[in-house]
Amino acid sequence: MSWKDILKVDEFFFLPEQPKDKGAYSPETDKVQVNLAGFNLGNEDKIIEELVSTITHEYSHKAAHPEVKPLHDKLKNEMSRGIVNYFFDFVEKKEELKTLTVPAIKIAKLIAYEEAFTYSTAMRHQKKPNVNVIGSAMEYTLETIKRLFDNLLKAFEEEGNEIVEEFEEMISSIMGNIEGTIMKPLNDIEMEVRRFISKGNKLTRKEHMDYFMEMVGK
Ligand SMILES: [Zn+2]
Repeated sequence: MSWKDILKVDEFFFLPEQPKDKGAYSPETDKVQVNLAGFNLGNEDKIIEELVSTITHEYSHKAAHPEVKPLHDKLKNEMSRGIVNYFFDFVEKKEELKTLTVPAIKIAKLIAYEEAFTYSTAMRHQKKPNVNVIGSAMEYTLETIKRLFDNLLKAFEEEGNEIVEEFEEMISSIMGNIEGTIMKPLNDIEMEVRRFISKGNKLTRKEHMDYFMEMVGK
């Protein structure tokens, strides 16, 4: 048995060029991955604390994701239908962008609620755990939606159509729009998580303020 078995992490990496990517859980492979280069924190206690938080976080994804997956798949279907409708002009002009932003917000919220759960697991061993619902959920939401657009482009290409540059520009502009639209709900959910942790860990007024200021400073 090695230290790796004790930590129960499926794959360890050392990616110094991506120090912010401390860990990941991949729903496709069901594996938990940890990037050891993300723990260059100097102080040994801090390293252990962050490592435990990261592993707990990713394992919480592994536990929560199967519960969330049926709804996640359903919303992805809704988004795919929205994309098809949008591009093939089945909807009224005035409703067009809503066809995409409404399901996008649902996907973002679902992903953010999963992150809310996985980040709050760290509150048992850290007073003010690092919480980044906005960053994590934003990245995963945009990735999920971009993949759906890519599927459409691929199907389009397979039919022998040429992908015009205009089409790709349009998608990138829509992605920008979606990013702006989901920012507020993600922000609200992160605030909810910080409030929950602050209350649960009985932060003083000063600590509570600092904890919220961290969010603004990001
Ligand atoms: Zn996460």
